[in-house]
Amino acid sequence: MSEARVVLQNANLINGIGPPRSGASLAIEGNRIAESAEPRSGDRVVDLAGKTVMPGLTQCHFHSGFGPAPTLGAAPILGLDAAPPYMGMIAARNAQTALQCGVTGIIGSSNGDNLDVCLREAMILGLVQGPRIIACGHEFMAPGDMADGTNRSWFMGIQHSGLTRRLSGAEEFRAATREEIGRGCEIIKLSIGPGHGSAPVRDMCYLTRSEIEAVVDVAHGHGKLVRAHCPSRIGILECAHAGVDIIDHADRIDDEGIEATAKSGASITPSLLWTTRFLQFAESWDWNLGPFPIGEGFAETQEQVMTRLRGVREDFEYTCERLPEMVKAGINIICGDDFGFPMMPHGDYVSEYEIYTKTMGFSGLDVLGWASTNGARVMAPLLGEGSEHGTLTAGALADLIIVDGDPSADIGVLRDRIVGIVRDGEFVRDVA
Ligand SMILES: [Zn+2]
Repeated sequence: MSEARVVLQNANLINGIGPPRSGASLAIEGNRIAESAEPRSGDRVVDLAGKTVMPGLTQCHFHSGFGPAPTLGAAPILGLDAAPPYMGMIAARNAQTALQCGVTGIIGSSNGDNLDVCLREAMILGLVQGPRIIACGHEFMAPGDMADGTNRSWFMGIQHSGLTRRLSGAEEFRAATREEIGRGCEIIKLSIGPGHGSAPVRDMCYLTRSEIEAVVDVAHGHGKLVRAHCPSRIGILECAHAGVDIIDHADRIDDEGIEATAKSGASITPSLLWTTRFLQFAESWDWNLGPFPIGEGFAETQEQVMTRLRGVREDFEYTCERLPEMVKAGINIICGDDFGFPMMPHGDYVSEYEIYTKTMGFSGLDVLGWASTNGARVMAPLLGEGSEHGTLTAGALADLIIVDGDPSADIGVLRDRIVGIVRDGEFVRDVA
């Protein structure tokens, strides 16, 4: 922790609460935002004319283990990953990449080998640099769900390897939640229904009400969170009523789902980049090259593939229509997607934000809020007392970025014009 204060002057300030303010000052004292930005003797004073100061970004659907596989096709999808040491290196690299992109907080999504927990420990010990992390573990799935029943490697009896964990019945779900938490996880991930991205949504819920409630009961009892891959209308209702904290994707949310989610206080991660990239790839597929390479586990005719793609596009357009209503209902929208998948490299986070601003017409300021403050709001209670961050107000933890330009006018400047990154009061990238 540095002793001298750093006073940032003359900046365009986006503090995570109100509209941007020009000519504003802010001081960092220790690891917090200071009460007063009035320079004192010994302070380092930095003039930020033409630059913006805003809260650090939060990636709220972060697969630390997704990245290039050592040999393409060596591991059956989601069942087996590469060797744990290799996965650990991928996770360390992803954390470093995220931090260098201005991401100061991440909420984990499913991963194997206790990667998120190890990452958190390695960062505490100074072995790896990365954002603050809320650690996730295995994705709980029912036997026969999309990651299991259609997995062509079923005969290998993989079950608990990789990032999924197969469970059946409330007692198994309850016991597994206790175990994951005992191993250091802070957010439990559930697989609730098929669809999102490369497959159409079906209106069903893989898990029973008692299974979902068992997980929420144990997790909340320990002060932890629950998130769910949850694209279906019925699944959203079940999760909102059970008290799931993060509803991932929410593709087929309807009026009742919007109302239930708003009432429950759950956050939604729309993650519309993966679907966008998948559709771009799929709809321009040249069938002369052979069968379409991204399937659902079983062989499909061309006609079946085309029907699937039409379903995915309908889901995508439906979600885009519904997103403004989710926002209007006051649902906490957060950003993050399956980065590390093919066509989705870690570090390409701004492309998701641009779908909301450029394609859908949301204001830059709104989307900056989703991408920073809203995620921090979910993280803070898990980080312990005094861990408020995501707003640049006196006493908050100093996690912030300095941008050359105004990201509320053009969010694209976050791609290559972040000139300063501060995590916990320390400059990770010092503004020149
Ligand atoms: Zn995911």
